[in-house]
Amino acid sequence: MRYSGFRVIKEALTGHKGWRPTWRDAAPQPDYDFVIIGGGGHGLATAYYLAKQFGQKQIAVLEKGWIGGGNVGRNTTIVRSNYMLDGNEPFYEFSLKLWEGLEQELNYNAMVSQRGILNLYHTDGQRDAFRRRGNAMILNGSDAELLDAEGVRAMYPFLNFENARFPIRGGLLHRRGGTVRHDAVAWGYARGADQHGVDIIQNCEVTGFRIENGKVLGVETSRGYIGAKKVAASVAGSSSRLMALAGMRLPMESHVLQAFVSEGLKPTIPGVITYGAGHFYCSQSDKGGLVFGGDIDGYNSYAQRGNLPVVEDVVESGVSLIPALGRVRLLRSWGGIMDMSMDGSPFIDKTHIEGLYFNGGWCYGGFKATPAAGWCLAHLLSTDRSHETAQAYRLDRFQTGHMIDEKGQGAQPNLH
Ligand SMILES: Cc1cc2nc3c(=O)[nH]c(=O)nc-3n(C[C@H](O)[C@H](O)[C@H](O)COP(=O)(O)OP(=O)(O)OC[C@H]3O[C@@H](n4cnc5c(N)ncnc54)[C@H](O)[C@@H]3O)c2cc1C
Repeated sequence: MRYSGFRVIKEALTGHKGWRPTWRDAAPQPDYDFVIIGGGGHGLATAYYLAKQFGQKQIAVLEKGWIGGGNVGRNTTIVRSNYMLDGNEPFYEFSLKLWEGLEQELNYNAMVSQRGILNLYHTDGQRDAFRRRGNAMILNGSDAELLDAEGVRAMYPFLNFENARFPIRGGLLHRRGGTVRHDAVAWGYARGADQHGVDIIQNCEVTGFRIENGKVLGVETSRGYIGAKKVAASVAGSSSRLMALAGMRLPMESHVLQAFVSEGLKPTIPGVITYGAGHFYCSQSDKGGLVFGGDIDGYNSYAQRGNLPVVEDVVESGVSLIPALGRVRLLRSWGGIMDMSMDGSPFIDKTHIEGLYFNGGWCYGGFKATPAAGWCLAHLLSTDRSHETAQAYRLDRFQTGHMIDEKGQGAQPNLH
């Protein structure tokens, strides 16, 4: 079934009796060519591009819960291509280009909104760093504009410009960045994958790997054994736990990141704004709620809820940047488990076990990567070669000294 304005009108006039389920509720088959573990954005995008772009068949996505229940449905929806390092920026630019055509590609309204992202700076040193980052972005085909304080004031007059400690001096504007409705991305890719014959199997937890002579033969699941020629793990915050079942210890930790939504307000914040003197980022949803977040919780956890000190810390930063926020009521908050790598950058790579592939380490920036991560993992699974934009995302980069430390924080996962 194709979705269109005509279809909506027709269904409205005929009692909405013609809508079909968005994807089939598939039962697990004994064998597949490709098994993808994790029905988040990355796993579903991988299945979609494997089938659509690379013409592969016999593909299953195994999800322990329900589609959209992981980080893909829990994030603050920001997409951007404003990285600085060579290993990163071409990949994120590729991803943003895929976002730009995603709704037509999937015939699904994912509410892709390129409303612009503004990173504020408060010191001369920060301005110099932003200028360097902006130049790197432009060199990689992205867009960047350096604004002075007046340029920022014209867009966001209600910010605390004269803050004695952190006066706003300007910002780096990335106009093509913006937001995308997170769970619609999961549903859109699930629908697209299903239309290309992918089996999407929910309530099916992978509990072990069958590995013989260094080669993966299949996976043990809560719904029985499933054989596979190739298996890809794409389980975000559960990566360490899952890969431990294959005897692997990953260079990453799991931490909780929280997101917050305020009561609905009239249109106030036109784009996405980030504070340069605290960790705070904010946009406004189409329903009017301010959607914001900040730092991860400082300790390791697999709980999908966070602690109160971070709530206070995030709100403090928010009120320091937007004093009027002090009068707004917080409506809800939740948490997701982040796969924080040692250098803040991800992995899309083969493992030392033949037929077993790994995608993870996305920290809290993996939503914007969804289309490219899916494409690049599908490329790797199909051709056994890394896609040109994902060659730096190797698992052995800590051994070879090729870390991609965008923030320059060193091996401190909770700081990336
Ligand atoms: C609060 C918050 C805010 C964020 N904000 C942003 C943002 O603004 N921009 C951005 O780019 N990124 C953001 N992120 C990060 C982004 O959401 C993640 O990096 C990305 O969604 C991870 O990929 P995924 O969608 O595949 O993960 P998930 O949706 O978590 O998918 C992984 C799936 O694997 C399943 N799974 C786990 N173990 C097993 C198993 N054993 N068997 C079968 N299935 C299993 C899980 O149930 C889950 O559904 C944010 C994250 C959070 C939590």
